[in-house]
Amino acid sequence: MSNESLANLLKEERRFAPPADLAANANVTAAAYEQAAADRLGFWAEQAGRLSWETAPTQTLDWSNAPFAKWFADGKLNVAYNCVDRHVENGLGDRVAIHFEGEPGDTRAITYAELQREVSKAAHALIELGVQTGDRVAIYMPMIPETVIAMLACARLGAPHSVVFGGFSADALATRINDADARVVITADGGYRRGKPSALKPAVDEALTKPGTENVRSVLVVRRTGQEDVAWHEGRDVWWHEIVERQSDQHTPEAFDAEHPLFILYTSGTTGKPKGILHTTGGYLTQVSYTHHAVFDLKPETDVYWCTADVGWVTGHSYITYGPLSNGATEVLYEGTPDTPHQGRWWEIVQKYGVTVLYTAPTAIRACMKWGDDIPAKFDLSSLRILGSVGEPINPEAWMWYRKHIGADATPIVDTWWQTETGAMMLSPLPGVTATKPGSAQLALPGIAATVVDDDAREVPDGAGGYLVLTEPWPSMLRTIWGDDQRYLDTYWSRFEGKYFAGDGAKKDDDGDIWLLGRVDDVMLVSGHNISTTEVESALVSHPKVAEAAVVGATDPQTTQAICAFVILRGGAAEDEGLVEELRAHVAQQLGPIAKPKRILPVAELPKTRSGKIMRRLLRDVAENRDLGDVSTLTDSSVMDLIQTKLPSAA
Ligand code: ATP
Ligand code: MG
Repeated sequence: MSNESLANLLKEERRFAPPADLAANANVTAAAYEQAAADRLGFWAEQAGRLSWETAPTQTLDWSNAPFAKWFADGKLNVAYNCVDRHVENGLGDRVAIHFEGEPGDTRAITYAELQREVSKAAHALIELGVQTGDRVAIYMPMIPETVIAMLACARLGAPHSVVFGGFSADALATRINDADARVVITADGGYRRGKPSALKPAVDEALTKPGTENVRSVLVVRRTGQEDVAWHEGRDVWWHEIVERQSDQHTPEAFDAEHPLFILYTSGTTGKPKGILHTTGGYLTQVSYTHHAVFDLKPETDVYWCTADVGWVTGHSYITYGPLSNGATEVLYEGTPDTPHQGRWWEIVQKYGVTVLYTAPTAIRACMKWGDDIPAKFDLSSLRILGSVGEPINPEAWMWYRKHIGADATPIVDTWWQTETGAMMLSPLPGVTATKPGSAQLALPGIAATVVDDDAREVPDGAGGYLVLTEPWPSMLRTIWGDDQRYLDTYWSRFEGKYFAGDGAKKDDDGDIWLLGRVDDVMLVSGHNISTTEVESALVSHPKVAEAAVVGATDPQTTQAICAFVILRGGAAEDEGLVEELRAHVAQQLGPIAKPKRILPVAELPKTRSGKIMRRLLRDVAENRDLGDVSTLTDSSVMDLIQTKLPSAA
């Protein structure tokens, strides 16, 4: 990637200082950056001290076999004890841990004392099913409390879990069960999605007919919908309520080595064969707990926190289960979709529980923009004090919309960059410290070392673009790809010697702040210039008629690649004659003529992965009139038929 071409196409001058009261009372201040810069390992050792260790670590980082890291290796702790029991022992048993809101409107408030009893019973049930320390357990569940309870029960026993997103097919589940060699599967009869029960158990039954899944001894089934006729395999299938309910609610947790495996999580597969990312115990919990405390400024006595991700993604692991619960938070867990039964459902939930900290994804924010400003305006959102974003670059105009319509034009937004592989947040503003810039994750968190380099691994100057790399190991880093150390080395450590390459393009602005530019595979080459899909998309979204945009580079005889854009219009905007020209001119004016799309197609939907990210690879196939590649990770493959009907047959 050449430097000059990515240099500051997009100029963003807006700045938002932290609210004074938040800054004055912030959990973490600017001193944390100084402390970590002076003694990075000492800083992390101190953060590890926020946890309860049965044996406190004396070592911090062992990097002697780099890039295979060991953190806090001589310490011992139990993750479930840290997330549950210690809060009860500290007299907080009556605090609500989870406010569960089912999609049909059923609710359940679970206190820390109750969570301790439930996790203990589930742990005993797993023991009865023969689960031993080190055995892998697959979890294929809807978003219900038992999912979190199951994860914590596994952690309590030192049995690494592999949570597979409940929207994945039987095939995807079988591949993951096979790769991790799981012994038990925890599932449910189904969950509620879009106003009706949606079965899960049949996919487990089908997955277990496939080769490589023979070692699964038991399937533990939660009854959630109660409406399905559940096929039953005697001797293998067990109802959760039958086995869990009769167990003792007292269980003494055992402490495990800090490097004991905690979970395997397969990346969503935007880019090919899923990788089983391995996370371990002490370093992972240290960083998820610290970042949740720092980035959300969590005050466990008064905050009501809500992360809208699915637990099937890393965001759910780190910021629904382990981060918030390790901090003794009160959190909302919502089962369903944002528009069931109406497009204001999320805002109704914020109002109902008095949510103070909301963590969601750009895809959801853009959907809300499309539905219209009047919907959130009907609800009282005044409890909100911090808003978070994760998953994709957030377009500056989506950021502004989020701040204005959800955050009353006052609430700080923390744009958090991280990955399944990093385990926890890596780049983000701090809400009480950083003056935020719409669309930028800005800077590495205290204790994290990140920069942008060029093709030759040299750090780029301010104002230039290149590749995002992490230059020092961090506590919650992946330890390897499950069963494939070589793939770990090749995928993350071979492009730039001694540096972790994240796969994302980024630039530094004139202040040295970092802007994510999308995956390097998505960067376009137009007449000798590298142009970021993210920047062109953001320019389109800054037009008042556009809610969402996806941009790809299609092969072009004159310019190498030509920019082709797919746009979703905001509610009410008409697709009239001059629109396409108007949008092309707008991009040229925002970014310069080089970035002007050759073609712009208004569409009703965009292809997304099941975690809500735009799949540009498929749009490139469309733009180049090719047969579509693998569509198995798409949420809804009919979207592609719709898009193709929009195209003239020749490009
Ligand atoms: P796969 O690795 O299988 O292709 P994935 O990368 O989508 O899947 P995740 O680990 O969930 O799986 O996502 C991490 C990626 O999401 C990052 O590498 C980056 O591309 C993008 N991302 C996450 N947060 C942000 C953010 N705040 N700003 C920009 N990009 C982000
Ligand atoms: Mg990735």
